[in-house]
Amino acid sequence: MAYDSNNIFAKIIRGEIPCKKVYEDAEVLAFEDISPAAPLHVLVIPKGEYRSFDSFARKASPEEMVHFFRVVQKLAEELDVKESGYRLITNHGAEGGQTVDHFHIHLLGKKPMSKLLATE
Ligand code: AMP
Repeated sequence: MAYDSNNIFAKIIRGEIPCKKVYEDAEVLAFEDISPAAPLHVLVIPKGEYRSFDSFARKASPEEMVHFFRVVQKLAEELDVKESGYRLITNHGAEGGQTVDHFHIHLLGKKPMSKLLATE
C-alpha cells in the first residue's frame, strides 16, 4: 500500500500539528505519545516516508536503519530507563494494531510491564 502523506505523523514532521518533542535530528523525530500507556511513552519515527516497519525494513538504507535504532537506544539511555528496563513496540497493519500509518517505535518505561502483550 502506498504511503499517505496526510497521516498525522507526517503532519507532525511538517510542523502542521504540534507535538511534545523529545529529540530531533535530520532523519529522526521523537515525541511524547498523546495517550501514554506508561509513565514514559515516547514515539520514535524516521522522517522518511515509511508506512510501517515492513517498508522501513525493506526500503531504508542500512545507514538510515542503523542511525534510527541507535537513536532509539540513546533515547532509552538519556531518558534513564536503560538500567530499570523498557519495552519497544512496533505495530504493523490491522491485526498488529497499527493506527497511524507512518513507521514508529513505541518506547515505554518507568513502570513494570506485563508478561504478555498488554502494558497494564
Ligand atoms: P499505533 O497504534 O501503534 O499505530 O500507535 C499510534 C500511537 O500514536 C498511539 O499510541 C497514539 O496514542 C499516538 N498518537 C496519535 N496521535 C498522536 C499525536 N497527535 N501526538 C502524539 N501521539 C499520537
